[in-house]
Amino acid sequence: MKAIVYGGPGKKSWTDVPDPSIINPSDAIVKVDTTTICGTDLHILKGDVPAVQEGRILGHEGVGTITEVGASVTTLKPGDRVIISCIKSCGHCANCRTGLYSHCLGDEGASGIGWVFGHLIDGTQAEYVRVPYAENSLHLLPEGVTDEQAVMLSDILPTGFEIGVQYGRVKPGDTVAVVGAGPVGLAAIATAGLYGAATIIAIDLDRNRLEQSRAFGATHVVLSGDSDWKDQVLSRTDGQGVDVAIEAVGIPATFGMCTEIVRPGGTVANVGVHGKPVELHLENLWIQNINISMGLVNANTTPMLLKLVAQKKLPAEKFATHHFRFEQFIDAYDTFARAAETNALKVVIT
Ligand code: NAD
Ligand code: ZN
Repeated sequence: MKAIVYGGPGKKSWTDVPDPSIINPSDAIVKVDTTTICGTDLHILKGDVPAVQEGRILGHEGVGTITEVGASVTTLKPGDRVIISCIKSCGHCANCRTGLYSHCLGDEGASGIGWVFGHLIDGTQAEYVRVPYAENSLHLLPEGVTDEQAVMLSDILPTGFEIGVQYGRVKPGDTVAVVGAGPVGLAAIATAGLYGAATIIAIDLDRNRLEQSRAFGATHVVLSGDSDWKDQVLSRTDGQGVDVAIEAVGIPATFGMCTEIVRPGGTVANVGVHGKPVELHLENLWIQNINISMGLVNANTTPMLLKLVAQKKLPAEKFATHHFRFEQFIDAYDTFARAAETNALKVVIT
């Protein structure tokens, strides 16, 4: 089969690799019908994620059709159409039982740290993928939900919701600021309303991203390059600061911005992946009773978010801005990597 294979920093190829096969009885093989590219794939290609080894098939988002299941899989069968979670999880270990799927202790690997597809196991940017613990790592696709909606439920919608909105403890009536209106920040914006946020402020350097954010539910937008960006945010909160500031970029400057605009007693929910240490002025945070939360997505809310997408209560289809065929995969990467010029949010590959 063909797949996108990581060849070390800066190197990837769309190349022939052996088809995957069932290894463990809880596995399924899925023919990938639709996949996409994540900012994290670009981080890997830069060489920022040392755990990813040369030869790894990239990608952790996908929708497909089951072609084969292992002997212990009873709730899924060949022909079923499924969403592939970004993370494999057994569903019954001590961590999975508390919803901490990103730290599954399942016996395959048993590392307990984030078995994300395309990192430590082969991923979804391929014609076929082996999915361990298929019954927990796959979700049946209901009628009426399109592939391009469903593929946003592998990673970006659960990430924005779980790590931004849930960890941020958004409550009815809250004012929420989201710093970084890329796909993950937009997912936080789109899901903040589920807990009744009254005011949602999108903050980004890029005017196009800010314009796009209104379609996802941003009530106000602020250009972070404006010298008075902070006053613009505070003016929406009677000068008090926002209840929840969600960091969705992954650089120290934007984490710092969140700490500047959060109200005393509020929460900074860090979603961004920081490749480098971030300085924390603990005394400033302490004196203001600021909560800080962060973490790797668990994707345990995918089934719930799927229901909302099916009921047209979440605009998952709005993320898909560009479409490619599998054989155009390298062009898809190029378009996604030049998002500032191409206005790409998510490129969908079928
Ligand atoms: P992206 O690069 O597509 O979007 C980032 C956005 O931030 C862009 O719109 C960019 O214009 C904006 N930005 C950059 N610098 C800024 C600044 N100084 N001020 C304001 N805005 C600025 O990224 P994405 O795919 O949306 O992902 C966002 C982050 O979430 C990344 O760090 C990604 O690795 C991380 N992520 C985390 C998890 C998790 O499990 N916690 C899962 C997936 C992705
Ligand atoms: Zn587990």
